[in-house]
Amino acid sequence: MDERAAPRVGLVSLGCPKALVDSERIMTQLRAEGYELSKTYQGADVVIVNTCGFLDSAKAESLQAIGEAMAENGKVVVTGCMGAQPELIRDKFPDVLAITGPQKYESVVDAVHKAAPPKHDPYFDLVPPQGLKLTPRHYAYLKISEGCNNRCSFCIIPQLRGDLVSRSAGDVLREAEKLVKAGVKELLVISQDTSAYGVDLKYAESQWQDRQVRAKFFDLCRELGSLGAWVRLHYVYPYPHVDEAISLMADGKILPYLDIPLQHASPDVLRAMKRPAHQEKTLERIRRWREICPDITIRSTFIAGFPGETDADAAFMLDWLEEAQLDRVGCFTYEPVTGAPANDLAAPVPEELKRERQARFMEVQAEISARKLEAKVGKRLDVIIDEADAEGGAEGRTKGDAPEIDGTVQIGGGRVLTPGEIVTVEIEDADEHDLYGVPV
Ligand code: SF4
Repeated sequence: MDERAAPRVGLVSLGCPKALVDSERIMTQLRAEGYELSKTYQGADVVIVNTCGFLDSAKAESLQAIGEAMAENGKVVVTGCMGAQPELIRDKFPDVLAITGPQKYESVVDAVHKAAPPKHDPYFDLVPPQGLKLTPRHYAYLKISEGCNNRCSFCIIPQLRGDLVSRSAGDVLREAEKLVKAGVKELLVISQDTSAYGVDLKYAESQWQDRQVRAKFFDLCRELGSLGAWVRLHYVYPYPHVDEAISLMADGKILPYLDIPLQHASPDVLRAMKRPAHQEKTLERIRRWREICPDITIRSTFIAGFPGETDADAAFMLDWLEEAQLDRVGCFTYEPVTGAPANDLAAPVPEELKRERQARFMEVQAEISARKLEAKVGKRLDVIIDEADAEGGAEGRTKGDAPEIDGTVQIGGGRVLTPGEIVTVEIEDADEHDLYGVPV
């Protein structure tokens, strides 16, 4: 390492948006201490690999990433969900410098200190007060809690991350406020179970600005909605108290968008999955939400081929989908996760049948999505710009589209736009995924 230069840290971040938030926190801390980021393995004095250990395929990807970092650099610190199973990593890569579990920011930072000691004169003021974001600067993920109190049979997140631990409302709101002041236009609220926010704190109040705010889903949504940014809710379960937040959507305080991972519709499969929130009544809830806020966009994910799923269950899910008319849907085939109780369930579904059911489900949804998007042609919609070129071409998203998982609006002609700008776009065309239009 060059004596005069600041030490450089490389980062490989795998997994979900929640892991991305962890990576952001680690890098913010290291930047605050004078470290610099390296975009290449060769330029880094140490490499952090933030792993995902949710599915076996994610574990394999994580091990591959660790192997690559070891081969290309050799000084590697491993963190994230897979850090909860250090023996799997040590077996393959006995020379990694340190392995820490998820959210162990301090241990990761300690390991980096040892591998590449910080400079004596830390560059505190190099770090913007909102922290360093790995997402584009106009949107940011806001993590409101860690862990989960549910025990879905296919999931090992509670084993890896423990029970729900919510941040205080004041803490979350102060972070959100800083982000908005720094230019963030869209806050993406994430956690394992967003609607359970604050249960562990018994909804305790905390100070924010001149008032006390309860650590409660509705109260937090209301206050976030006062910051002047788009607020998008992810990983919400259809508990009855969610209805209140829909009225905030109808009033334009937060985005009319709900990401609810339903995973299935058949009561028998849901029971075997041990899913929270009485999902059998979900159709009723969705109807109610649409009454309160007719513009709401509902996104969900489903699993095809869960153990014990019969032809009748699969057909039930298709009928349910036709009736629910969700706006955005993802469907994965069931994949066993080492350590998950669902592995012991009887009647696993053959791979081919899983894929067949998944394809049929996505076919039905493609038609629903295409119809829904077609209905937007001729409308004028607010669009946040994600990318823009010098010729007036741009890509953005409506209030109904979350970054990376939903569709886009492709904008042509007109004036040159900038990322983060919110413009009104006249929609001229649509396909089953995206919209096309011109700014007005
Ligand atoms: S709600 Fe279920 S699937 Fe989601 S993290 Fe908790 S246990 Fe896992």
